[in-house]
Amino acid sequence: MIYLDYQATTPVAPEVAEAMRPWAEDHFSNPHSPSRWGREAAAAIEVARDQVEAAIGLSGGSVAFTGSATEAINWALKGTAERTPERNRIVTLATEHAAVLDSCEWLEARGSEVVRLPIGPDGLLEPGALEAVLDERVALVAAMLVNNEIGVIHPIGDIAETAHGVGALMLCDAVQGLGRVKIPEGPDLVAVSAHKVHGPKAIGALWMRQGAEPAPFVHGGGQERGLRSGTLSPAMCAGFGAAAKLAAGRSRQDREHVDQLWKAAIAALGEGWIVNGSVDHRYPGNLNIRRDGLDAARLISDLRDIAFSLGSACASGSGRPSHVLRALGLSDAQARSSIRLGFGRYTSQDELVDAATRIDAAARAQQDVAA
Ligand code: PLP
Repeated sequence: MIYLDYQATTPVAPEVAEAMRPWAEDHFSNPHSPSRWGREAAAAIEVARDQVEAAIGLSGGSVAFTGSATEAINWALKGTAERTPERNRIVTLATEHAAVLDSCEWLEARGSEVVRLPIGPDGLLEPGALEAVLDERVALVAAMLVNNEIGVIHPIGDIAETAHGVGALMLCDAVQGLGRVKIPEGPDLVAVSAHKVHGPKAIGALWMRQGAEPAPFVHGGGQERGLRSGTLSPAMCAGFGAAAKLAAGRSRQDREHVDQLWKAAIAALGEGWIVNGSVDHRYPGNLNIRRDGLDAARLISDLRDIAFSLGSACASGSGRPSHVLRALGLSDAQARSSIRLGFGRYTSQDELVDAATRIDAAARAQQDVAA
């Protein structure tokens, strides 16, 4: 199989599996117990915390581990709304991940006012759009660094500064950006996920600027400074730490590789493909493209040994056209003619060129049959 679905998840790095092994196999102690074994496990978690914080690279805050980035985002939105009832409005972008949009919908059903900003045909905010809806009623502005479906990079530093201008906090979903695109200074809350950076699934983290911690969301034993209860898994934390350290240490090397892969894929695909979203403000490991008349779902089932998708894994599963592509102004038909190729550290140029050549040939064959 040629794996081109890096935005859905990434292969576990060998260094990550190695870091997890002792904690998964022998060292089973509860990291919150006072025994020597417990303290060893707790120390391993603190090493991992430092590694994740270093990869995020922001000053003045710290992370709490969560069960996923989805949990971190739910916590950030719902916990901030709870903490600041005097500010009843949340502002976000139409192209955010379901974790943000569905949390906002949940809050809306309970009385919050949610503003979903439209984006331009390039996938970016129109100038002045954010300023126009900001005032002292806004508790939080939520925007992602790198879009998971189309790869466009939002100016998070500017968005945070604008939000701060009216006293609002800023939540950055940096799940697709960690280790790939530098997280600018500015956000008060940052959500990340291990499995998008060659770490294990089902562990995420919320970075919180000191003083901006949301109200607790998961209650219980008071772990994570009383902010997020639940016994932590030393194995998962160690895996996330190792993945974050690698991502930060290899950031430039990974980026050069991905730049090469992007060029090779574009050359192999040939004429007739249109890139969805900005090419200039984009992480190049995301190639979301469309072709007039293409039946993308059929293309995926025709090429079963190549793993790629229609957009987000959620959009692919539901059969609904992607809300991100629709927000770009694409018609349902154009959205259904779009595919997303995601590649990265462990993708070889040869396999990517092979896959792109076969995708192009299969797309042309569809057109020949239709003609
Ligand atoms: N945000 C973005 C941009 C994502 O791509 C994802 C993963 O699909 C998430 C949030 C949710 O991450 P997790 O799988 O850790 O819940």
